[in-house]
Amino acid sequence: MKTDELREKYLSFFETKGHTRRPSDVLVPTWDPSVLFTPAGMNQFKDHFLGRVKLDFTRATTCQKCLRTGDIDNVGRTAYHHTFFEMLGNFSFGDYFKEEAIQWAWEFLTDKKWLGMNPEQLSVTVYKDDEEAANIWHDKIGLPFTRIEYLDEDENFWPASAPSQGPDGVCGPCSEIYFTPTDGKKVEIWNLVFTQFNRVGDPPNNLEPLPSKNIDTGMGLERTAATLQGVSTNYHIDILRPIVEAAGEICGVKYDPDSDNGRRLRRITDHIRACTMAVHENVYPGANKEKYVIRRLLRRAVLDGHQMGMHHPFAYQLVDKIVEMMKTPYPDLQDSVTRVKSVIKSEEENFLHSLDDGIARSEKIFSGMRTSNRTVVSGDEAAELYQTYGFPPELFEQVAIEHGFTFDWAGYKKAMEEFGERSGGAQVELFGTGPIESLKNSVRSTKFVGYDSETSEVTVK
Ligand code: ATP
Ligand code: MG
Ligand code: MG
Ligand code: MG
Repeated sequence: MKTDELREKYLSFFETKGHTRRPSDVLVPTWDPSVLFTPAGMNQFKDHFLGRVKLDFTRATTCQKCLRTGDIDNVGRTAYHHTFFEMLGNFSFGDYFKEEAIQWAWEFLTDKKWLGMNPEQLSVTVYKDDEEAANIWHDKIGLPFTRIEYLDEDENFWPASAPSQGPDGVCGPCSEIYFTPTDGKKVEIWNLVFTQFNRVGDPPNNLEPLPSKNIDTGMGLERTAATLQGVSTNYHIDILRPIVEAAGEICGVKYDPDSDNGRRLRRITDHIRACTMAVHENVYPGANKEKYVIRRLLRRAVLDGHQMGMHHPFAYQLVDKIVEMMKTPYPDLQDSVTRVKSVIKSEEENFLHSLDDGIARSEKIFSGMRTSNRTVVSGDEAAELYQTYGFPPELFEQVAIEHGFTFDWAGYKKAMEEFGERSGGAQVELFGTGPIESLKNSVRSTKFVGYDSETSEVTVK
């Protein structure tokens, strides 16, 4: 089944169950200060769950454009993570609850009219004390208890108390659905969240019941397409593999999935797709917050290309293929191709100027390390490279890993502090796996304004 068909099937299935089809929200919701990018389908409905808006409908279904910076390091390494991805969802605002949510999810997945998945290949998890959900899976659906796993807060309460990819606030126990390929490890495809609390303040006793019980579900479009298409990674589905192959052609490299270059081409695909979607929405690479994330994604892709010998702007050439693959759900992408390409190209040009100098210096550092049998890049050296060439530490780390070295983040932070540059914390948060809220706070608290695009210097106020 094609990805475009899956998207449409999901939305029409839930329309047959009385849901109103709503458009995706934008990638950067300016009205929501708690997130840099929309991380999930539920975000546009937070006020609906809190009972703050008058509703024209009590059931909705969407395909939401999402971007998760917390997954940045998974890209290229895991088979199933992107930064930008699409999340299908069905929502109930004080209308149906667990039983319908579970039954409809099962019907959509297994009914031959819809996805027709083999029920034997599906298993679920529930929150540790959610007997109600476990019993529905067992009694109503007929899943044996051996395929119902109880997990704790980290996995089965969304978002977990230290929010890793979503806002604090509305939350609840959840039940995740996994698909096990015939020759592979199980993969999470869908999360059903039973949104019934508002979390305010610190535990314990920080869960206030919401005015109503709600449903918020999120199904990964690319992951589900991968299972239906029988491919071993999201990057090989019909709307992504052509982009990976095109990236290979642009870079003059044949795509070999298991090679380092294969990983680089997948990362380029992911990052430039994210940049294309963001720039299309007028989020340009820039000095702070979401703009800075886009700048960093683009620069990581440029570095990957650079390591395959691309010393001139190339990533912008991928935009045409990305738009071709994404235009069915987002036809207006076609109107901004020229603008998106020119924004990406000029950012590439800026970055490439400083990159060559930084790379040359890092090579010297590595050869010195080999001579003296050191395996950890020192924080001082990383800080120096950052100060002198604007060579971002997470890029340095990436090159260091390629050479078999590790990177001393703690030392880097310390060195940056010693230099009197308080941006170190923000850097680590930005591309570490830290929570998005603390990222936003750290960016704010250090008044980090990032790179100046003209000089590639770090600017901190
Ligand atoms: P994982 O444990 O695999 O990181 P998650 O539990 O963080 O996923 P949820 O927050 O439950 O994900 O999001 C709902 C669904 O969105 C997931 O079941 C998955 O199918 C999809 N999804 C989540 N993160 C990503 C990502 N980075 N790239 C692609 N799909 C994703
Ligand atoms: Mg995750
Ligand atoms: Mg999970
Ligand atoms: Mg999940």
